Amino acid sequence: MRAAIKEYNYDWLMGSTLSAAAKFPAGTAKEIAWAYRYIPYFKGIVKNFVDAGPPGIYFMDLLAGYYQNILDAHAQGKKIAATTFCSSPVIFYAMDIVPLTFEVLTAIGAMVWKRGMFDYMDYCCEVGMPETACSSQRGALGAYLADMGENIDIVLCDTPGVCDTNANAFVFAAEYLDKPFFQLNYPSTLGDSRSQAYHVKDFQAMIRFLEEQTGKKIDYDRLAENLKEVEAQDAITADLEDMLMMVPTPIPPIYTLMIYAGRFCFAGHPGYTRLLELLRDEAQKRMAAGVPALKAGAENLRVLMCYIDHYTVDINFYNYLEERGIANAGSILTRNFRDYNPYCQALEGSCYGVDLSSPEAMLDTVAQMNARLPMVRSIRGPYDQHGMWLDECLALARLYSVDCIIYNGTPGCRNTWGMVKPFARDIEKQGIPVHIMNDDAFDDRVESWEATRERLDEFFTVRGLL
Ligand code: SF4
Repeated sequence: MRAAIKEYNYDWLMGSTLSAAAKFPAGTAKEIAWAYRYIPYFKGIVKNFVDAGPPGIYFMDLLAGYYQNILDAHAQGKKIAATTFCSSPVIFYAMDIVPLTFEVLTAIGAMVWKRGMFDYMDYCCEVGMPETACSSQRGALGAYLADMGENIDIVLCDTPGVCDTNANAFVFAAEYLDKPFFQLNYPSTLGDSRSQAYHVKDFQAMIRFLEEQTGKKIDYDRLAENLKEVEAQDAITADLEDMLMMVPTPIPPIYTLMIYAGRFCFAGHPGYTRLLELLRDEAQKRMAAGVPALKAGAENLRVLMCYIDHYTVDINFYNYLEERGIANAGSILTRNFRDYNPYCQALEGSCYGVDLSSPEAMLDTVAQMNARLPMVRSIRGPYDQHGMWLDECLALARLYSVDCIIYNGTPGCRNTWGMVKPFARDIEKQGIPVHIMNDDAFDDRVESWEATRERLDEFFTVRGLL
């Protein structure tokens, strides 16, 4: 780790950058234009979110708030829990615990910093993690292993599905930092009562563990409030899903990132409801005015990202889609799998409902909700079983009328790389072209953005799509 990088508290550095960026639009148009001249390093990312209008500006503020929560936690007597993105924070907010999700923080760093998360990623390897470990944890985790961030109090490996690299990263973090650790298992099947009952018991054990660690009991009234907020969020998300189905869609590519990043950080929190309202209102305005969502001025193509997006600096990937007139129907991270969404009809057993009638029912709801997060829901086992990766992608591709499917992941992702070729062949057999990206979603050193862009152009041209 370079000495210069070690000079800064990581959480403060990132949080301050985002909160300063969110203040930009407070100026006049002239002031904003002049201010950009003073931030050449960050101009790309700030301008992209400012240009995305009220939701983009609010999103920067919301993420800055995520870091602020981490920075303020100990002064407010709260514990910080390292947790995966495949765990809804709703339960932590009900227990006054501050969640810290490595994967989301790594993606933010990769999009904001031109130098990427490289130093932090490499630090993980310097202290013993394998280079083949998923870069999504290896980024932000490096800062905490190097003692450059706030002190993590608890490590929770919660429902990472079958992901060995994710589970190992959390075990490594707990061992290295010498912190209490809890492993929440994932349900082997979805929608059957035996596996669900086991999963709820596992949740109860996790809550006991957290109560011991924090010295505080879970507040079920608060959990009920948070779940009511989830109800409101799910309803707005369903509206956005409907608008994503329209051809052309009034939803710009970057909205899908905001939908899932907001959910991973703030599900059940009013801040996320506000973000969704802004996204919906802007899309509705665009729809009413007949203004296209894409900067290209026309929708030439629709893609489904069958795994994750590309988090390169300055959100280049989303801009690429905008410029080529490619609508983004979202990725496996975008959908919440709430039971009233149209895609649930084609994917029986894959969706969840909300029940607030008792503490047990609420825990069951949270367990069901977590089991519908991407790594558990769709890459839990064989790709071609009912409701799994292939089934889900085909159902979504049909419903959202996409022209092609694109895979993007990380080289460390054995779960998806181990099955992506037969998966792609099976989709091609259905007449849908598939492109497998070779980069690392979080690490531009694996393949430069320029090379990634060239391969995307080649795919669209050779397959006669653009
Ligand atoms: S991207 Fe793949 S390796 Fe990384 S956490 Fe997700 S499933 Fe695991």
